[in-house]
Amino acid sequence: MAVDLSWVFKKSKPEPVSGWESAFADSRAHGHNTDAYTFQIAWAYAEDHFKRQPRFSETSCSQCGKDLGPGDAGVSSCSEHGA
Ligand SMILES: [Zn+2]
Repeated sequence: MAVDLSWVFKKSKPEPVSGWESAFADSRAHGHNTDAYTFQIAWAYAEDHFKRQPRFSETSCSQCGKDLGPGDAGVSSCSEHGA
């Protein structure tokens, strides 16, 4: 099974992922034979997937004002939220 990690390289500005070193040491201590490079990618993937925070805590529709909850952006018309 292949894992698509292409997103890692699509990021316009790669940022160092904090905390991977200790997690890597812990992984090795448990007998996992992952190399550091692969581990960093996997760690970055997990961080992005599980710890990603929406850009805004509240978003809404500009047309009707409906509260659409947390998200990266609001919408400008009702057709975009299915009303
Ligand atoms: Zn609306």
